[in-house]
Amino acid sequence: MGQKIQSVKGMNDLLPTEQKDFKLTSAYWQAFENKIQNWTRRFDYKQIRTPIVEQTSLFVRSIGEETDVVGKEMYTFADSNDTLSLTLRPEGTASCLRAVVEHNLLHEAPRKLWYMGAMFRRERPQKGRYRQFHQVGIEALGFADPDIDAEMVAMCADLWRELGILQYLTLEINSLGNREERAAHRAALVAYLTEFEDKLDDDSKRRLHTNPLRVLDTKNPDLQEICNNAPRLIDYLGEDSKKHYQTFKDLLTGLEIQFVENPRLVRGLDYYNHTVFEWTTDKLGAQATVCGGGRYDGLIEELGGKAAPSIGFAMGIERLLLLVHEHGSLQVADFPDVFIMQQGDGATLQAMKYAKILRENGFDVAQFSGSTKLKNQFKRADQSGAQFALIIAESELANQEVTLKDLRGERGQITIPAHELISKLNEWKA
Ligand code: ATP
Ligand code: MG
Repeated sequence: MGQKIQSVKGMNDLLPTEQKDFKLTSAYWQAFENKIQNWTRRFDYKQIRTPIVEQTSLFVRSIGEETDVVGKEMYTFADSNDTLSLTLRPEGTASCLRAVVEHNLLHEAPRKLWYMGAMFRRERPQKGRYRQFHQVGIEALGFADPDIDAEMVAMCADLWRELGILQYLTLEINSLGNREERAAHRAALVAYLTEFEDKLDDDSKRRLHTNPLRVLDTKNPDLQEICNNAPRLIDYLGEDSKKHYQTFKDLLTGLEIQFVENPRLVRGLDYYNHTVFEWTTDKLGAQATVCGGGRYDGLIEELGGKAAPSIGFAMGIERLLLLVHEHGSLQVADFPDVFIMQQGDGATLQAMKYAKILRENGFDVAQFSGSTKLKNQFKRADQSGAQFALIIAESELANQEVTLKDLRGERGQITIPAHELISKLNEWKA
């Protein structure tokens, strides 16, 4: 026997349903994905699918060299000709915008897009944090006004409500202003933090010189007081930025969406400006952020397109489904309606014919394969999760009858003329 090969650390299999325990199985994900399709359709967002591999320069330029993602989390490798550096995508926005610019999708009008798929970051795996994880992302491209910022948040709230987790999530918002406002604040922040440089940890010392705003994002409890007293970006916003932010907040209030202003919310990627937001929960331990996003008005131009103010967000599917599974609700349908059992000469063919007719009439059908005793087949029928069993044995074959058994309910077992099969099953299923 050959040696078993293990999956790569931090990259998980998604398995089919065992018995009646849906846990976080492929069926559970499918049910979620169906919800996402309906949800995006309700808000008129169209799907875009981009490759998992991109040129490394795309992420360096968009996410930013000094971020954790680009600095230490990317899966980067040389293509075989050694001249081209490629990277497994660590997030979806950069690829989405690359495609939008490449295909000139903003030529005529703004666009509302969504994507879903695997992302890759070399992080320390733990509950809610993996090396291959999955995101659903939403991007509204070519919209400057804060009403779209509010639509983004309302869209999230709509999905949380549908998944039964709205009450477990807190919306945090902040405004990062524009480039000049951030530069003015940055200077004040660096001056302030430099005073405390000997008290900072190594990460924060490094960030002080590369990306000082990110120091405020530290999770180190010893630095909380220093950070709390640091100059606040919000105090550096000019009139236009303030107005944009205020309108956004007024719309949220008008829509009865509760929020908390967090002046230290800066987000991990460099491209954000003006509105940023995160949905967090206290139900998932350290991996508290389920969804995050914000405005990136300059990014499309940065990537070679015509300037187009834009905003987007992404949610982590693993974290979201952990929360939904423990506290929310998601209907999962993963069982056949009918399990067909058969025994005796000619029963196999007859069973296959019934299976065909049942499927043509909209039933999901599992069929027993092999020739064990009916008693053992009943065990399989039960394991399959099917609602009903259809039994074809000698007497049914001889009399052109079928036997139906209600495996889950109170209807018991009946034998009826074969031509009544569909109408009886429709009646039982209703
Ligand atoms: P965190 O602070 O938790 O590392 P982030 O700011 O790096 O999150 P984003 O880049 O904003 O995350 O991605 C959006 C969402 O994707 C996150 O809110 C989270 O739900 C999910 N996510 C990010 N990284 C991972 C990961 N390694 N494993 C699972 N989910 C992740
Ligand atoms: Mg991260």
